[in-house]
Amino acid sequence: MELNIGVIGTGGIGRDHIRRITEVVAGARVAAVTDIDAELAGTVANQYQTRFLPSAEELIQSPEVDAVVIASWDPTHAEYVHACIRESKQVLCEKPLASTADDCRRIIDAEIAQGKKLVQVGFMRRYDKDYLSMKAAIKQGNIGAPLMVHACHRNRTHIASHTNDMTITNSGVHEIDILRWMLEEEYVSAQVLTGKCNHYAAHGLQDPQLLLLQTESGILINVEVNMASGYGYDIQCEIVGETGTVRLPDPSALQLRSEGRHGFGILSEWSQRFVEAYDNEFKHWVSDVKRGKLTGPDSWDGYAACITAEALIRARNEGTAVPISIGTRPAFYH
Ligand code: NAD
Repeated sequence: MELNIGVIGTGGIGRDHIRRITEVVAGARVAAVTDIDAELAGTVANQYQTRFLPSAEELIQSPEVDAVVIASWDPTHAEYVHACIRESKQVLCEKPLASTADDCRRIIDAEIAQGKKLVQVGFMRRYDKDYLSMKAAIKQGNIGAPLMVHACHRNRTHIASHTNDMTITNSGVHEIDILRWMLEEEYVSAQVLTGKCNHYAAHGLQDPQLLLLQTESGILINVEVNMASGYGYDIQCEIVGETGTVRLPDPSALQLRSEGRHGFGILSEWSQRFVEAYDNEFKHWVSDVKRGKLTGPDSWDGYAACITAEALIRARNEGTAVPISIGTRPAFYH
């Protein structure tokens, strides 16, 4: 039986997910879409021959919608996730789960009170085959116990409204989640170093920022988050273990030797980098929703990412190291 999905938000990623559900994922269809920009949502509904509903509340409550995807702006996420929980409908919420860690906790409380895991957070990197291979290499003991991580998140350029905090909450948050998932450890401390600003970044934007995290066993992590690299969208990650290292391969497999040079292309936009990971994320989610057992990143992971981002922001603003206390994952989320 087909899963009927309602999509809230028909902007950039929302449209991509609508295309994905319609063209890539088997056993699912887009049953309805909505957006505060009714004209945009209407056009998208026509394009994909689906229904436009005038509000997110109506979409979530609609008997024609079995499960929901939230792809609207960050501050709207918590409210819509709560509405899905009230309706006992599974929801895939784009990151971040909520704007604050306290809001995430309220979602956790509501989900536990409902008695059923309903929420997945859009940390799609967990479905990227190269990160999965890195994690497998660590688990197989190929590099011994991890000691350090050097990671980097470079955007070619940033949107005009980008802020210093978004460097952490919007971009850095993917690094926060994927490293925590790969190392299977919680963070205990956060620090941010800032230095000379790239004068190609917007005036007043502190760019780049160097995020420093430490995990409970003492693994040291540094992540360069660089919003105006000027040359492309470039995600790198190297884990240094006691007996070896493992590194994320470059996404472009084509190696070119030509005119006295050897090299490969670098992607220019984020939307090109994790296409397969998004596809896999949705395939898994649809299959999990159908069998009634979600296995992807959950509300607890959304909370852990949010509390870590908050600690990093405080650490940067106060110029100090800030302890992080994520707490114990409730049995409900095991
Ligand atoms: P966007 O601005 O292109 O689209 C967002 C859409 O949401 C807009 O069309 C807007 O009109 C609509 N919207 C805003 N408030 C709404 C409301 N109350 N109800 C219904 N619709 C509303 O932004 P985007 O780049 O598509 O990002 C959307 C979300 O997806 C953000 O939360 C962002 O953080 C997340 N995102 C995640 C990834 C990822 O890698 N997982 C990538 C991009 C975006």
